[in-house]
Amino acid sequence: MSTHPHRPIWELSAPVAPETAALGSDLETDVLIVGAGFSGLSSALHLQDSGRNVVLIESHSIGWGASGRNGGHVLPLIRKDPKAIVEHCGAGQGDGLIQMIAESADYVFSLIERYGIDCDAERNGWLQAIHSDAQMKVCRDRYQQWLPYGADMELLNAQQSAELMGSFSYKGALFVKSAGHINPLAFCRGMAKELIAQGVRIFTDTPALSMHGSGKRWEVKTPSGTIIADKVVLVTAAYSDDLWPGLKKSFLPFYLYNIATKPLDAELQASVLPGRQPVTDTRSDSHVFHYDAAGRLISGGTFIFPTGWEERIVRHAESVLKEIFPQLQNPQFELDYLWRGKISMTADILPHCHILAPNVYTWLGCNARGIALATRMGAVLADAVNEVDVESWPLRPTAMKPIPAQEFSRLMTSVMLACYRLRDKVM
Ligand SMILES: Cc1cc2nc3c(=O)[nH]c(=O)nc-3n(C[C@H](O)[C@H](O)[C@H](O)COP(=O)(O)OP(=O)(O)OC[C@H]3O[C@@H](n4cnc5c(N)ncnc54)[C@H](O)[C@@H]3O)c2cc1C
Repeated sequence: MSTHPHRPIWELSAPVAPETAALGSDLETDVLIVGAGFSGLSSALHLQDSGRNVVLIESHSIGWGASGRNGGHVLPLIRKDPKAIVEHCGAGQGDGLIQMIAESADYVFSLIERYGIDCDAERNGWLQAIHSDAQMKVCRDRYQQWLPYGADMELLNAQQSAELMGSFSYKGALFVKSAGHINPLAFCRGMAKELIAQGVRIFTDTPALSMHGSGKRWEVKTPSGTIIADKVVLVTAAYSDDLWPGLKKSFLPFYLYNIATKPLDAELQASVLPGRQPVTDTRSDSHVFHYDAAGRLISGGTFIFPTGWEERIVRHAESVLKEIFPQLQNPQFELDYLWRGKISMTADILPHCHILAPNVYTWLGCNARGIALATRMGAVLADAVNEVDVESWPLRPTAMKPIPAQEFSRLMTSVMLACYRLRDKVM
């Protein structure tokens, strides 16, 4: 039996959530959004801007899914670089998607500014710390590929990255200057507060149990009321259930964890990540580090531990922190705030947008890089609802495809993680 409540540390400093309740009666709306993460909240903001009557429902609370549990790194990159994106999507469509990704962190920070969202936003860049010579080559190439798209990046040598990180464990770093970090739960709550102020109806503790319909009339049942909507934006991501047949089979769910130390004293903060940039290293099973606003050092990674995962994570996190930051000899963790969450990994490691049926839209495949991407995709789905010409969508809709043998996803992700760890040792 676990003794850890598994709450994200972000709860400690996020402003309280705006008051919401479960749906209590039937209603009708132009657009129903299912899922109150970055995708759903941002989509609602854009639809509200265009004068649509919007209702948003969420099974649990605002930001309950990956959006309130992530690391808070806002970065304008996905796991594929421009050449691979163009190879996959073709030059025209690929360029549109790459440009959207390159501008996606600007997009998040501009929403924060526009709505005055209180979410401890710091825009001081992001470091991809390079752990091997092979990855130095990959990052040099990454840097060259993103430059033509206006990316504000610098490739740092070992000395320069050590100065920003307070660690000599890396061969250098890709410094992405337009990136930053936020309290992601506070960002979700801030968007929700703005939506409610603008008159959008948000219902929490309101799972969509079933949906039926066609074309211009969708009927979505919840435990305490039925919603009739002309259009539905389904943004349940890695937490998708059986609401839309086949949706949860179109990706592999991966678990990531985060763990926070107690606040470090000023001397340690000046020595560990003195530049305060969030860091993800180039390992396939990445080590991730960043501070929250109170100076807690948060670290994270991937895990698949069926039982006793908490204790293993504490041991793993402690050994990683001591290896990368030898000055941090005795990390004390906030064990009440050891948390995990799910992400959607797609077979080609690219995001996908689907028109599931007439007037039903979704996207999937954050592949662990989803704050900027999901927030921006919210606007793309809003454009879809507003019938903006599909030729101008930066991510074109495709047919949803199930991943073969997805029911064995736990086994598949375990094997993938073992391969990642092996690859990290050799390259
Ligand atoms: C531990 C962790 C660390 C991460 N770190 C980073 C990071 O540092 N930077 C980064 O860019 N990305 C990161 N990510 C990825 C990022 O968090 C996600 O890509 C992003 O939050 C996805 O947002 P979303 O709105 O699409 O989905 P979610 O936030 O998962 O929202 C989906 C919502 O749908 C709701 N839902 C599901 N089914 C129903 C239903 N039937 N009815 C009603 N509601 C339903 C769920 O309750 C959930 O709240 C991380 C993810 C995790 C888990």
